[in-house]
Amino acid sequence: MKIKKIDLFAFHLPYAGGQYALSGGRVYTGFDSVITCLTADDGTQGWGESTPFGPNYIAAHARGARAGIEEIAPHLIGRDPRDVDRINDAMDEALVGHNHAKNALDVACWDLFGKSVGLPVYTLLGGSTGKRLPTISSIYAGTPEDMRARVAKHRAMGYMGHSIKVGALDSEGGPALDAERIAASLADRQAGEYFLVDANGGLIPETALRMLRALPEGLDFVLEAPCATWRETLSLRQRCTVPIILDELAQEDGDIAKLVALDAADGIGLKISKAGGLTHARRHRDLCRAAGLTVSVQDTVGSVLSAASIFHMGATVPERTLRCVLDPRDMVTVETGAFHAPIQNGGVIPPDAPGLGVTMNMDLLGKPVATWAD
Ligand SMILES: [Mg+2]
Repeated sequence: MKIKKIDLFAFHLPYAGGQYALSGGRVYTGFDSVITCLTADDGTQGWGESTPFGPNYIAAHARGARAGIEEIAPHLIGRDPRDVDRINDAMDEALVGHNHAKNALDVACWDLFGKSVGLPVYTLLGGSTGKRLPTISSIYAGTPEDMRARVAKHRAMGYMGHSIKVGALDSEGGPALDAERIAASLADRQAGEYFLVDANGGLIPETALRMLRALPEGLDFVLEAPCATWRETLSLRQRCTVPIILDELAQEDGDIAKLVALDAADGIGLKISKAGGLTHARRHRDLCRAAGLTVSVQDTVGSVLSAASIFHMGATVPERTLRCVLDPRDMVTVETGAFHAPIQNGGVIPPDAPGLGVTMNMDLLGKPVATWAD
C-alpha cells in the first residue's frame, strides 16, 4: 500500500456551550479544525483531524498545522502508511516539532492501516480491553452554582468523570472563588465518579496552595496542570498531598520520560493531537503503564475523527489506569461524519468497523484547500 494523494480540509467547529472560559481570561466560542484525507494506491481513504484548542492553549494553532502539513505532505507521497514509525521518522526529517500538523497525517495512516487489513485501529494498537470507557465532561469556569448545574446535566447524560476548570485571576475572585467552584462541583458527587480540577497551567504554587487550603476536608479529586512550568509544578508537588496529573507540560516523548524521572505527577492527560498522533500516544500509554501512572485519553477538542482516535486509544489502556476519555463531540455543534459510539451505561465502546470506523460527510467538508499527489 502506498500513499497516492493527500487532501487538506479546513473547517470551523462552533463551541456547543456558547463561551468556553479557561484560566487566564481565555475564552473560546469555536475551534478551527484541520482535516486530512490520505488516498492509497488501491483507492482506500484514511482520515485524520487536528483541532487546536485555540492559539493560546499550547504552542499550536490551526493555520500553523495547515502550514506544517504543507511542509510534510510531499515527503509522504509514495510511502506505505502502515509503517507508522517510519512515517513519523519521515515527518520529523521534514519538519521539527509541530505535533498538531503531524497528528492529522499520523491518524489518517492508522485509519488506512486498519482498513487495509479489515481491523479496527484498537486491535492494531494492542487490542481492546472490552470495557466501556468512562467519559469525562469539560466544565468551563463559571459561577460555582452554574458549574454545579452543568456537572449535574452531564451526570444525567451518563458521564462518569468531570473536568472542573479553575484558575481565577485575583481580579476575578482568585483562590477563594476557585475553592468555591470545586466545592460546588463536587457537592453532589456520586459513587464511582472521578473529578479532575484542571487549572490549565493558570495557577502558581502560592495560588494553588491558597486554593487547596480554602477547601473543606475530604474532597476526592485530582489536580490537573496546576502550573505552567516544571519548576512551579515540582515546587507545588513537594508541598501538597493532592494527586497531580500533567497535561500541557506532557507533550513530547521526552516530557513523559522527564515526568517519570522527576516523579513530577501521578498521571497524564494524553491528548492525541498534543502527542503528535496515535504512534506517539501509544508510546506515552506504554511509558505510563510501566511507571504506574494514570491516563486520561483526550484531545485538544475536535469532531468525530478526534473522538474516534481517542476511543480507539482509550480502549487499549488497562482499566486499572484508565481514568476517563473525553468525548469532544459534546463540545461542538457540527458532526463532520458518522461515527457510531453512543454513551451508554456509563461509557462508550469504539465500533469494530475497520480503521477508525468513521464515514465522513463530504457535502459538509466541501472542497480541499490543498492537494498533493504523485
Ligand atoms: Mg487539561
